Amino acid sequence: MSTLQKGEALYAGKAKSVYYTDDSDKLILLFRNDTSAFDGEKIEQLERKGMVNNRFNAHIMQLLEDNDVATHYVELLSDQECVVKKLDMIPVECVIRNVAAGSLCRRLGVEEGLDLMPPTFEFFLKNDQLHDPMINEYHIRSFNWASESEIEAMKALTFKVNDILKQRFDEAGLLLVDFKLEFGRFKGDIVLGDEFTPDGCRLWDKDTRQKMDKDRFRQGLGGVVEAYEEVAHRLGVELSG
Ligand code: ADP
Ligand code: UDP
Repeated sequence: MSTLQKGEALYAGKAKSVYYTDDSDKLILLFRNDTSAFDGEKIEQLERKGMVNNRFNAHIMQLLEDNDVATHYVELLSDQECVVKKLDMIPVECVIRNVAAGSLCRRLGVEEGLDLMPPTFEFFLKNDQLHDPMINEYHIRSFNWASESEIEAMKALTFKVNDILKQRFDEAGLLLVDFKLEFGRFKGDIVLGDEFTPDGCRLWDKDTRQKMDKDRFRQGLGGVVEAYEEVAHRLGVELSG
């Protein structure tokens, strides 16, 4: 068990709160039950979601570490909290899509479910007020959000994560449709931060194509946490309660 002391709150986001600790290199992430969509316009409390996402994220981050992806994850602290390395976050979201869904369908008029071969990659600016607009590498360079080598590192790591997780979810009977990653800097390296949970990816049952991710919340399909728990169960993630 960690001896780390929780300090003042650094930031309260839409789904997680971030706390300083007595170690200036480390933060505590608290996964709350809050669930939001449409840039924070729809918000609800879903019981058990914080615990499920915290434990799910820990499992995925550990799997990525085991496959030589540098992540911010340090250890689980409690049901809803984990310890992470404090990153200097890059305000850019990296999205890979294996199958068309969500904003891609709205933007390009393609049908949901179309296989994308090769998978496609998109950058978005992390800015709720501007509704996370899509950006390209030139914007990232011109506004100095990240250097050329950092951009290359984020892309390469996102594709590596896709290779690892597409296969792992496939083994669990799930199709990894798309996902979003955030990266930051830690002592000169680009490191995966934030989270990987069904809040930030799309997962469909391989056979029935049933949605088992945050689209259940966005689209009012119900059974949101039950679907997250089923995904966790299929991956062998230990949940409490
Ligand atoms: P949002 O900011 O989108 O509402 P969250 O509720 O998930 O998102 O809040 C978590 C915040 O913590 C995000 O802004 C994220 O970029 C930031 N964050 C995640 N991991 C780290 C880290 N290791 N170091 C510093 N900040 C982090
Ligand atoms: N995503 C996310 N946070 C965001 C925007 C997108 O986690 O602020 C995830 C989303 O859950 C999906 C992928 O990134 O798995 C692609 O999202 P999309 O661009 O289709 O946007 P959406 O229609 O989901 O808002």
